[in-house]
Formats: sequence, C-alpha cells, structure tokens
Amino acid sequence: MTKRELCLAAIDAAKKSYAPYSGFNVGAALLCKNGIVYSGCNIENAAFSPTVCAERVAVFKAVSDGNLDFEMIAVVGGKNRNISPVTTPCGVCRQVLSEFCSPEMPILLVKNEIGDFEETNIGALLPSSFTL
Ligand SMILES: [Zn+2]
Repeated sequence: MTKRELCLAAIDAAKKSYAPYSGFNVGAALLCKNGIVYSGCNIENAAFSPTVCAERVAVFKAVSDGNLDFEMIAVVGGKNRNISPVTTPCGVCRQVLSEFCSPEMPILLVKNEIGDFEETNIGALLPSSFTL
C-alpha cells in the first residue's frame, strides 16, 4: 500500500465520523506491518469526556486485534467534512502513538481530497515522550 493510498483510506474513514457537536470530522488509517489497515474516526458524545479521536480508535482496534507492529498512519480532518490542511494528532493521541510506534514511524497528515500529505513522526510531534 502506498502512502497516498493510506491517505485515501483515512479520507474514507472520516466519512464515518460522528461529530455532531464540533462539526470537525477526523479519519485515520493505520497500516500494520502485516498489511492490515485499521481505520478510525472521531466519535463524539453529549457528555464530551467519552469522546474519542480517530487515531485512538484505529490504534485500539489494531491492538485489540493482536496487531502491535505498525508501519505508518494517515490522519485527516476538517470542519463540516471539508479537509483542512493539516490536522495533527492531539496530545493524547500523540502519547498513545508513542506507546506503540517508533519515533521515526511515518505519520501522514492529509492535505487535500486527492491524498497529498505532509509527513512527520512521533519523535517530532512528541519529543521526550513518557515511555517505559
Ligand atoms: Zn486525539
């Protein structure tokens, strides 16, 4: 799977976003080293604190399925289903990614509908992260 294809999978995942409160739809696609892609979308809640981000949905789906070796993740977000360049993982998701991803693992930040992206990694987004 190419990086662009993973970005397009994130765009598809964002279509399932449940964000009636913020109107900010986020999708993530996580490629495991075995080739499986786990998608995630943000899921909001009237009580706010149960809300979960797309990145964590994707990571937790993979981990709960027994897959912990990740190749890369793509993230896309935007208000009212329009893609805003670029949406980065929030602080909580950065911490979760740092638990399972190498500092150099590519994090693709989708810029538009055709899957252009900026590339970063957790080492850049969360330096000196809390780890074992
Ligand atoms: Zn988050």
